[in-house]
Amino acid sequence: MKILISNDDGYQAPGIVALYEALKDVAEVEVIAPEQNNSAKSNALTLNSPMYVNRASNGFRYINGTPADCVHIALTGLLGYRPDLVVSGINNGANMGDDTIYSGTVGAAMEGYLFGVPAIAFSQVEKNWGELDAAARTARELVLKMSQQKLIGTSPWLLNVNIPNLPFEQLGHVKLCRLGRRHAAESVITQTSPRGETMYWIGAAGPALDEAEGTDFHATAQGHIAMTPLKVDLTDHDRLGYWAQTAARLRQGDHSGS
Ligand code: MN
Repeated sequence: MKILISNDDGYQAPGIVALYEALKDVAEVEVIAPEQNNSAKSNALTLNSPMYVNRASNGFRYINGTPADCVHIALTGLLGYRPDLVVSGINNGANMGDDTIYSGTVGAAMEGYLFGVPAIAFSQVEKNWGELDAAARTARELVLKMSQQKLIGTSPWLLNVNIPNLPFEQLGHVKLCRLGRRHAAESVITQTSPRGETMYWIGAAGPALDEAEGTDFHATAQGHIAMTPLKVDLTDHDRLGYWAQTAARLRQGDHSGS
């Protein structure tokens, strides 16, 4: 088994080092990750500046690009082979509910999925690297079991996994979840720069809005490991019928066309 590891916190983050250590004897593992923190970069690709690949003393390769850049470059030439699995993380903080849209951790995994490779994004719920060993062991056991059950190397899938910061023995079982929702983010933070200009800082993510039973928020609050299968098709399939009627009405009122 060949595994490509990336993340969005940068190649020096404790989470990616722990993930590599946990998986290095499970498979042939390569790490290709951003040089800098790229949290909240989603699926962004760098199109207007050159990128360079460097190798750190521990063998990790790093790129002055985004998480998706790293996986994209790896899969389109740098690796020279197709990995069986892309694993992203372990992220410093939750990627639940709406976070998944912004997450660079999920973005790296999604890039693998878009290229037809099964992919998992791992995140710790709290942002302090607490109980990182337990999260790494969770990732290792999940990958091992998936490999034993021949889930890896088949058709592509994309899993989002959030792990509470708990000792391994206190972690609940893996619970299959849907994404919850968050409230809108908190207000933007403004400060005055030394030159008298107003600086804007994006505010913190909002608290949970939908944390009902069945969501990732609910599962992790109960100490469970939340696992959510993701897809990329953003079409609102449930409302296609409604929009078909609406589109028909819009056409009726359109006298500018043919
Ligand atoms: Mn991050």
